[in-house]
Amino acid sequence: MSRPTHISIDTAALRANLERVKSCTPKQHVMAVIKANGYGHGAIRVANILESEVDAFAVCCLEEALHLREAGITQQIVLLEGFFHFDELSVIANQDLQVVIHTSTQLEHLIKTQKTQKTQLKKPINVWLKVDTGMHRLGFAPNEIEPFYKFLKQCPQVATIRLMSHLSCADNRQDTTTEQQARIFTALARHLNLEASLANSAGILGWPQTYADWVRPGIMLYGVSPFTESVAKEEGLKPVMQLQSALISVKRHRKGETIGYGATWRCPQSMPVGVIAGGYADGYPRHAPSGTPVLVNGKRVPLVGRVSMDMISVDLRSQPNARIGDPVVLWGRRLPIEEIATLAGTIAYELLCNVSNRVKIS
Ligand SMILES: *Cc1c(COP(=O)(O)O)cnc(C)c1O
Repeated sequence: MSRPTHISIDTAALRANLERVKSCTPKQHVMAVIKANGYGHGAIRVANILESEVDAFAVCCLEEALHLREAGITQQIVLLEGFFHFDELSVIANQDLQVVIHTSTQLEHLIKTQKTQKTQLKKPINVWLKVDTGMHRLGFAPNEIEPFYKFLKQCPQVATIRLMSHLSCADNRQDTTTEQQARIFTALARHLNLEASLANSAGILGWPQTYADWVRPGIMLYGVSPFTESVAKEEGLKPVMQLQSALISVKRHRKGETIGYGATWRCPQSMPVGVIAGGYADGYPRHAPSGTPVLVNGKRVPLVGRVSMDMISVDLRSQPNARIGDPVVLWGRRLPIEEIATLAGTIAYELLCNVSNRVKIS
């Protein structure tokens, strides 16, 4: 018997969520975003399941792409932050990867490859030119992009050029920023006559004017709502990850006794308290307050006291017969991760990415 903390991955749910993407955007190409180890689900596992159903994958950087190539993934892969050093370019060309270009420094590196026979790329690479339509993070300003585009177009190291931008406020259905970003983007894509991609999950589910030619779903593939005010079910999505564990101790404490670090929670009466193997070192958020729901034997009980590194405690007054070994769900199909994230003052994206690699996948 080993520590019971593990995640289970529902592959049917993953496929169903991709179908949800396709039902919203049947005419668009799909670039499935599997950066950060597939949002904690295991990038190789996710890639193997989705590979034949999508048109490309997107990851953050070269290392993440090579990890997939080494596992035999032959699908198109886009590097969302592009490249950081000149040296990466030959690997990018050899491994048939696509890059986002968002700064003139990257263009200078591209030019450098042309200088000598030795540095020349084996074949031209496909690029995504990033335009900043309002996020003000990466990308060229819309009114400055044309000369960079023209430069890329005559660059022998470059094959296809496509246009990309990113939405900053699409997670709020009331925010009009998204309409503005879509207007700027659509006009530019038309003017340059380029294939284009704008929509992330929130765009796909909430903003048809952002669809363009390629969509880039991330969080929705994993069955999590991208919106601040809804959970997966309300968006027709199915949670893919379930974080599970078990009770490893059940004890009765007297009225007035305190639970855990800092003695922040006090038993209002004599009562059973359970301890679960799962803490912030596993990726459970330390800021989840007392009262955060946990499923024990499929029923909600409140967390009590502070989250520790390896454990949390729960109030078992509603389950006086609960015993060591009883199953626990920290988030999953019947306990929305969005709800846990909100209580912990964060978003589900962060919880998914924080699942640590000591947590086994089954
Ligand atoms: C992460 C990312 C996405 C996916 O976003 P979700 O909100 O998870 O759908 C899309 N595009 C870019 C550029 C990203 O960095």
